[in-house]
Amino acid sequence: MVMLKASALEEFVRDIFVKAGCSPEEGARVGKYLVAANLTGHDSHGVVRVPRYVQMKNDGLITADQKVSIEVETPVLAVVDARYGFGQTAAPQAVQLGIDKCRKNGLSAIALRNAGHIGRVGDWAEMAAEADLVSVHFVNAAGSILVAPFNAVERRFSTAPYCVGVPRPGKPPLVLDFATSVVAEGKVLVASKGGKKVPDHALIGPAGRMSGDPHLLYGDYDPRGGRDYKSGPGAIRAFGDHKGSGLAFMCEVLGGALTGTGAATPGRRFANGMLSFYIDPGIVDPKNFLPEELTRFVDWVKTAKPVPGEEVLVPGEPEARMRAKRLAEGIPLPDEIWQSLVDTAREVGLDERRIQSAAM
Ligand code: NAD
Repeated sequence: MVMLKASALEEFVRDIFVKAGCSPEEGARVGKYLVAANLTGHDSHGVVRVPRYVQMKNDGLITADQKVSIEVETPVLAVVDARYGFGQTAAPQAVQLGIDKCRKNGLSAIALRNAGHIGRVGDWAEMAAEADLVSVHFVNAAGSILVAPFNAVERRFSTAPYCVGVPRPGKPPLVLDFATSVVAEGKVLVASKGGKKVPDHALIGPAGRMSGDPHLLYGDYDPRGGRDYKSGPGAIRAFGDHKGSGLAFMCEVLGGALTGTGAATPGRRFANGMLSFYIDPGIVDPKNFLPEELTRFVDWVKTAKPVPGEEVLVPGEPEARMRAKRLAEGIPLPDEIWQSLVDTAREVGLDERRIQSAAM
């Protein structure tokens, strides 16, 4: 296990992406958001993605420093085409547009289409919450067919995340942010590289047997080589029986079909689509009822008697705690993930002294 300070890891990732052909600003953004995912404990959406992002860029599947285009615009809504640019470049622009429109109108909707991987969706809800706005996000990943619907053993959905953010004055926002599969694909990726295991009901084999074995997703793989999620005979399971599977379905419909990205059907290029709604509580709630009611409600929820050995938490609390801990203690990276970063840094031609200094 290697421990790194968040700032050092951000800078290392930035330097890899700059060497791979991104501008320093884009490299810094990719570093910032990937490390932010590690800080919140979502290692699946953190720096483990670096080799895959670089590969996608080299294969022409993501374009560096791409300019988004606004395809449709009214005072309250917009359709933003990321044109297969990095998600870390396109998503903040789409969210900022939603914030600006919501500030003027009290409500806005933004359909983001054809974005490179936008990472942890909670980042975008947190950006809206920093602007004192509530937000709701339906996301899909076209070209990434991974998840079996309820009662199926074959893949039909992406891991299609759903996210809601609610700001709280003077306190961290409430952020519910999850894949509509039992686990995000990145968690299977981390498990396949020696990190935390996934639950033994997370995956399903062709005969309907549940398992936590990453080979069901990736097939046979060399421990130090790449992973191809198209190679495995099984699927990740949709969470929450028919209800979770229904939410996944609607993330495909709203985040994929309605945004113009396309739902997770065969033959599509990888892209995230995100349909986001923004609401200004300052306009909905001029008497400022919400902040105190949130305090009362959160206290009420958290004082429920826990099951033995557990604690009752509210959405966003585990991430806020982990962020504080990892900012103080550093980010732990399994050796294999660290090695994959070092290998990628060498592949893009980063100076050997720079590589050696990264983990100090
Ligand atoms: P998860 O299963 O860890 O669930 C996270 C959510 O549950 C958070 O809102 C968290 O605050 C809450 N939570 C966790 N433990 C809790 C507890 N004990 N009590 C109360 N609430 C608790 O998340 P996941 O499904 O593994 O998703 C991980 C990340 O992957 C998310 O950030 C998601 O946006 C991202 N993702 C992205 C894509 C993409 O295509 N960009 C696809 C899938 C997932």
